[in-house]
Amino acid sequence: MANSAIVSGHKAKGRQETIFIDKEYIEGLLETAKQADDAVITAALDKADRFEGLNHREIAALLASNNPAHLERIFAIAGKIKQHIYGNRIVMFAPLYVSDHCVNRCAYCSYNCGHSFGRRKLTQDEVREEVRILEAMGHKRIAMEAGEHDKECPIDYILECMKTIYDMKFENGEIRRINVNIAATTVENYRKLKETGIGTYILFQETYHQPAYERVHQAGPKRDYAYHLTAFDRAQEAGIDDVGGGVLFGLADPYFETLALMIHNEHLEERFGVGFHTISVPRLCPAPGMNMADYALVDDATFEKIVAVIRLAVPFTGMILSTRESHEMRKKLLKIGISQISAGSSTEVGGYAKRERQEKAHNPQFIVNDERSALSIISELMDDEYIPSFCTACYRNGRTGDRFMRLAKSGDIKNVCLPNALMTLCEYAMDYGDEPFKQKAANAIAREMPTIGNAKIRAKTGENVEKIRLGQRDFFF
Ligand code: SF4
Ligand code: SF4
Repeated sequence: MANSAIVSGHKAKGRQETIFIDKEYIEGLLETAKQADDAVITAALDKADRFEGLNHREIAALLASNNPAHLERIFAIAGKIKQHIYGNRIVMFAPLYVSDHCVNRCAYCSYNCGHSFGRRKLTQDEVREEVRILEAMGHKRIAMEAGEHDKECPIDYILECMKTIYDMKFENGEIRRINVNIAATTVENYRKLKETGIGTYILFQETYHQPAYERVHQAGPKRDYAYHLTAFDRAQEAGIDDVGGGVLFGLADPYFETLALMIHNEHLEERFGVGFHTISVPRLCPAPGMNMADYALVDDATFEKIVAVIRLAVPFTGMILSTRESHEMRKKLLKIGISQISAGSSTEVGGYAKRERQEKAHNPQFIVNDERSALSIISELMDDEYIPSFCTACYRNGRTGDRFMRLAKSGDIKNVCLPNALMTLCEYAMDYGDEPFKQKAANAIAREMPTIGNAKIRAKTGENVEKIRLGQRDFFF
């Protein structure tokens, strides 16, 4: 990242922090980028077309352009990168909300401490119950979510939940990767999460625009912009080398947010040799107690362009979309960048058990737009010629941080992603599908198998798929 974007000297929580997001610098870049001529934009697009990524000046130029020819090329290259690097596989996950106690007052969130409702955290038995239901949906990868509350939901509670989940074994497998989305915390606490087997540490900056940040974070420790912004630095210092960033689009100028997100990525690359493992792109959506009229919502066309530009900028970083988006929107975004989606989600503490009891959601964190069941989402992905993947192999093989990025950038990751997707899809079909579903999965596997480039891995994948059909489980490369 250009040094001009680094401003030192902000004090946060009694320690000297380095703030690498400079509002004036980013606003200046966005303004200057409006003058970018065709040659500059074409050079950036050519670079992206070679899978070389983009620096933040190039990103600013692409975001500023509304020239239809440029837009057409942005989408075409995004589609090409998506297909070339990720192929047809789409990684599946589900959120697991364990506690809605929260000391923060985030204006856009129903868990904010100003709202009064019967708050709760799951007992370990309830955690087991939720996980049993998630496992019955076929999930192997979860994102654990909790509000911030040192007393009601201390780090030891989160660690206990993780241990409970990793200890659970079912006939059809287990949860194999727990990503964790909890409030910014200390190096010591990140170290504990690492020791307990965290997958990716996920934290959204929400907005990088400090005045907007302070406007919506009205009370609580999260109000400290600098402490929140430097959370990944502390996580990396503690040895968590897979970190997942994101912004909540709708809180400030979306181009400002995109550029700042990319500068944050460059900061992590410079400092730790590896940027974001994943980027999430949630758009603000209604939550109980929130007035949508207070926000500048991001329209679909702008949102699509942002997803495509991020795909061009960081071709090897996974992109995550949640059930906040409608079915139609998800379909479009899968083509131009998204590589991971949630399915069958509940955004409420204890929500999976409630749904099983056919009780109405009481206080979800936000309102889900895509309410289809996991099975129907997965089935429809196959209709669209995608391969839903329940793979967690990289984490289990120790391919994290720069080890993962080296493999991703070499292009060899394709030799493991697709085989793992086919084997985990086969497992899923055998364990959770009815006959038509099994047939659909078998057709998808037969269609994709010849596209595995490495002959040895192709043969081994074929053998493993047969073994899975005969009852064996959990093969991965
Ligand atoms: Fe609490 Fe997170 Fe909601 Fe803010 S966004 S109120 S920190 S749960
Ligand atoms: Fe993700 Fe690694 Fe599995 Fe590919 S092989 S889907 S990168 S976990």
